[in-house]
Amino acid sequence: MGPGLIITGAGRGIGAATALLAAQTGWRVVINYHQNRQAAESVREQIHDRGGYAVVYQADVADESQVSAMFAFASQQLAPIGGLVNNAGMLETSMRLEQMDGSRFDRIFATNVKGSLLCAREAVRYMSVRHGGQGGPIVNVSSVAARLGGPNEYVDYAASKGAIDTLTVGLASELSEDGIRVNAVRPGLIDTEIHQLSGDPDRINRISGHIPMKRPGSAEEVAHSIVWLLSDRASYCTGTFIDCSGGR
Ligand code: NAP
Repeated sequence: MGPGLIITGAGRGIGAATALLAAQTGWRVVINYHQNRQAAESVREQIHDRGGYAVVYQADVADESQVSAMFAFASQQLAPIGGLVNNAGMLETSMRLEQMDGSRFDRIFATNVKGSLLCAREAVRYMSVRHGGQGGPIVNVSSVAARLGGPNEYVDYAASKGAIDTLTVGLASELSEDGIRVNAVRPGLIDTEIHQLSGDPDRINRISGHIPMKRPGSAEEVAHSIVWLLSDRASYCTGTFIDCSGGR
């Protein structure tokens, strides 16, 4: 069995698909979730049924003490910690900027940006060879919204993903001699439950026609890019991006 891998938001969607695929390639996985324990337990059961190993851990990635406790738990259960996927993320109802309430900026940036920073910081403390760790990869889940800007829907969410891209570039350089590669995947329109949060149930169908490949992607298609960046096959890749977006 390989080292421990923490995947945030791994009970559903892209995180769940990544947990299943990573476990198949030998990673022992911490399935982090926020509220939906049943979904996370279901992912753990599927991994165990296929001969892999995973544990479930509840933590709000925006909460510093909960993130620290999660890494301490992972280090106890699955040492050594050898990888992190910063996947947990959320958005809110689609609208123009002038209609937005400022409190949503706090929520979106707390989960998408502060959560990724806190988890990356803990990963460095456990994984860096500078601190006695064995090194390992970090993969951040950004979005093509970081490039496109999310106009008329959620420029706040897009701006939070822009921050993830900047974090990816800066941290990759900062950790280049720590044994830690930092890369990101930028999914396009992916068929998951996140779109329910936009308040536009038909969003996937409405946007699909504007994608060069004329369809949404699946969580599994994104997971393949993430798991490749986690692997030694990506050993000379750091500070870079895979756009998994059907040409968008
Ligand atoms: P999803 O199906 O809605 O799943 C989101 C996951 O994140 C859930 O497991 C959820 O936990 C977890 N989560 C949310 N807030 C959290 C918090 N504060 N602490 C810990 N976990 C939290 O979303 P998805 O589509 O798979 O999205 C995954 C990532 O891909 C996100 O970063 C998203 O921005 C990015 N992305 C998605 C798309 C897309 O089209 N789907 C496109 C570009 C980028 P619970 O299950 O407990 O609620």
